[in-house]
Amino acid sequence: MTDTLFTKIIDREIPADIVYEDEQCLAFRDINPKAPMHILVIPKKCIAKLTEAKQNDEPLLGHLMTVASVVASKEGYGDAFRLVVNNGAAVGQSVFHLHLHILGGRDFMWPPG
Ligand code: 5GP
Repeated sequence: MTDTLFTKIIDREIPADIVYEDEQCLAFRDINPKAPMHILVIPKKCIAKLTEAKQNDEPLLGHLMTVASVVASKEGYGDAFRLVVNNGAAVGQSVFHLHLHILGGRDFMWPPG
């Protein structure tokens, strides 16, 4: 597995406020939150970005979505949250380990800026 900042969080080499974990994924609070709820859901398998996911990753990708929904509900934002995936540096991806941002607790613009 490629070592990324997020694999270090998975391996507990660097601390994080973990809110959910199972055999396939981990969810933890973003260190620089952009909303009252800002949680990242990451697969334990290191996929650098969404466009590097393969067809056989589809069950894992679906699992990340389900976990994001469960986590948002547990946080009290089940009726109003936004999921964001930045795919590529040009749109703001800074950590090259696939992650879903779960954002909630404030108003959001549409379309997103
Ligand atoms: P990206 O910009 O790649 O879509 O999102 C990466 C996210 O990871 C950013 O929102 C950033 O604040 C968060 N992040 C970066 N380093 C750390 C860290 O060490 N711990 C936590 N919890 N979040 C981090």
